[in-house]
Amino acid sequence: RGSRQDKDREVRSVCPYCGVGCQLTFNIRDEKIAWVDGAPGPANENRLCVKGRFGFDYIGHPHRLTAPLVRRDDAPPKGLNVDPADPMTHFREASWDEALDRAAGGLAGLRDRHGGRAVAGFGSAKCSNEEAYLFQKLIRSGFGHNNVDHCTRLCHASSVAALMENVGSGAVTAGFNEIENADVAIVIGANPTENHPVAATYFKQFAKRGGTLIVMDPRGQGLRRHAEHMLQFRPGSDVALLNAIMHVIVSEGLHDRQYIDAYTENFDAFRTHLDGFPPEKMADLCGIDAEEIRAVARAFAGARAGMIFWGMGVSQHVHGTDNSRCLISLALLCGHVGRPGTGLHPLRGQNNVQGASDAGLIPMFLPDYQSVEQAELRAPFDTLWGGANVAPERGLTVVEIMDAIHDGDIRGMYILGENPAMSDPDVDHARAALARLDHLVVQDIFLTETANYADVILPAAAWPEKTGTVTNTNRQVQMGRPAVAPPGQARPDWEITAALAKRLGLDWACDHPRDVFAEMKQGMASLDNITWDRLEAEGVVTYPTEGPDDPGRSIVFGDGFPRAGGRARFTPAEVTPPAEVPDARFPMILITGRQLEHWHTGSMTRRTAVLDALEPEANAALHPRTLRRLGVEAGGRLRIETRRGAIEIMARADRAVAEDTVFVPFAYVEAAANILTNPALDPFGKIPEFKYAACAVTPAD
Ligand code: SF4
Repeated sequence: RGSRQDKDREVRSVCPYCGVGCQLTFNIRDEKIAWVDGAPGPANENRLCVKGRFGFDYIGHPHRLTAPLVRRDDAPPKGLNVDPADPMTHFREASWDEALDRAAGGLAGLRDRHGGRAVAGFGSAKCSNEEAYLFQKLIRSGFGHNNVDHCTRLCHASSVAALMENVGSGAVTAGFNEIENADVAIVIGANPTENHPVAATYFKQFAKRGGTLIVMDPRGQGLRRHAEHMLQFRPGSDVALLNAIMHVIVSEGLHDRQYIDAYTENFDAFRTHLDGFPPEKMADLCGIDAEEIRAVARAFAGARAGMIFWGMGVSQHVHGTDNSRCLISLALLCGHVGRPGTGLHPLRGQNNVQGASDAGLIPMFLPDYQSVEQAELRAPFDTLWGGANVAPERGLTVVEIMDAIHDGDIRGMYILGENPAMSDPDVDHARAALARLDHLVVQDIFLTETANYADVILPAAAWPEKTGTVTNTNRQVQMGRPAVAPPGQARPDWEITAALAKRLGLDWACDHPRDVFAEMKQGMASLDNITWDRLEAEGVVTYPTEGPDDPGRSIVFGDGFPRAGGRARFTPAEVTPPAEVPDARFPMILITGRQLEHWHTGSMTRRTAVLDALEPEANAALHPRTLRRLGVEAGGRLRIETRRGAIEIMARADRAVAEDTVFVPFAYVEAAANILTNPALDPFGKIPEFKYAACAVTPAD
């Protein structure tokens, strides 16, 4: 960190890590990012966490891809066998023209021989809105189907499914900063001090000011010491717990009858459904005392203004959509939507997962969640995209695409910025699928695990090297600006996708992200009154916004919901067990997730000096008593096995983890947690059950 004299210039932009969307200032010296300061954005008010403060030297790492690569004719068979420091054993450098010709030619050849459905695409929630939009447009108009998805399928797809179904919109109903106006807040299945650290500072301040914080999670966590109620419930028992809370609210007459009558539907059937969930009956299943369930119900229903925040502990289950349905019903029951200090807020993971989803990077929706199955919603895009003829069927999702490769239905992929060779459940199955592909194009900043399997690798600019907009968890559209130039021949993703499109015969007129944004506005009503010029001048606008001078609405749905009839819906949820439960062979429960210092598959943060120094080694967290029972010391080695595979990993003692549970972060390739995870899917959101697998833990040999 330096002073004003130590820098040549400064650039205002947005953090590339989590969905909080902190604004920051890059301080540039000698054309390098010398240090980073927090900036006064609406989501962070100058605050940054350790990743936003110290997480940028990855852009200068020697592993950066600086030239296009194509697979050598004499390369060894495809596998996870490329050294990112020396990829020339498997690849050779190519000119941009040769690489793009090969990339497009391979995909077009599969399309022409086997039909467009033989090709699928994964875009990225780490790219800009404009890049996400162009990517889905390329797959839809270049290959004639909707087999395009991204990592929202692995994080909040089930939350979005429940919100779309019951509220009519997949985004938050209120920004997280609205907690300032609440008197009670629930945080469930989320660990904000690690995963949304700046948002967590607002939650802590709320508690310090006297707000009632209720934390519910199978793991203890940083927020618990600020919580008035900490419900460490049994993994997978979310629906039972939430139904029991709602049973108390209704049976004690604490629900908001006026609100329910005015703004909701299906309450009578829902009330009858809740009869089956008295807290005394659910207490054993949840591992929570009935009186504590009653206390929480009374606190939330009695609040003047209450908010609910949730994370992937809620969404990453085979019953993830049911979990979210319960949270929506809980808020509706108490009238805690649409007013200051109230709202439903799934804390979005990636910095632009909201924006990428809004831009249509999902197989069932065009931009702005317009269903591909409705002809009247497809037609404007057919026109906008020059006679694209968008397919009328939903495409396949992330895990389904891997299965379709094994079935021989998908033969080629274009993967931009995603790393399914690390991020997919049952990752050995995903890696085998990638190895089977006839043609794989990977566009990234590093030679990721996924790029190991590529035929063509296209080097991309990193976020601090390009221009574009991103949308955070609060629905705030923010402008990102380039701080430094990309290394070597690396190019911005939008430019590479546009060059590929041209070779696929698509006639796109875009010379700058500004042009793409202007086109997006033609198909996305959510961007009404938001212009590129406005974002350049103001830095941020929240959607929806009422006019060119309106900064946008943090709180929505105070006057009804965007559903037929204007009413939100109560959808009953029954208890569904996890897809596999502990037994004699696999007696423990595996939960996976993130750590404060590392981001997702680690491709950026493990190449960042400060962050890697803080957390250099793969580790599994277990309760000290569990470690004693296993005869393993903290720092010793463990073997963790599930029905999919096994890893060896360092043991860490952590009293926050229940005694029958082990927590493993998924950032480490040398002990990849996703070798273990279960690919069973939630039937609505198609999200895998990352938060529950039966496992055996033993001392490593
Ligand atoms: Fe970046 Fe999220 Fe940290 Fe803010 S809280 S600095 S957006 S990682």
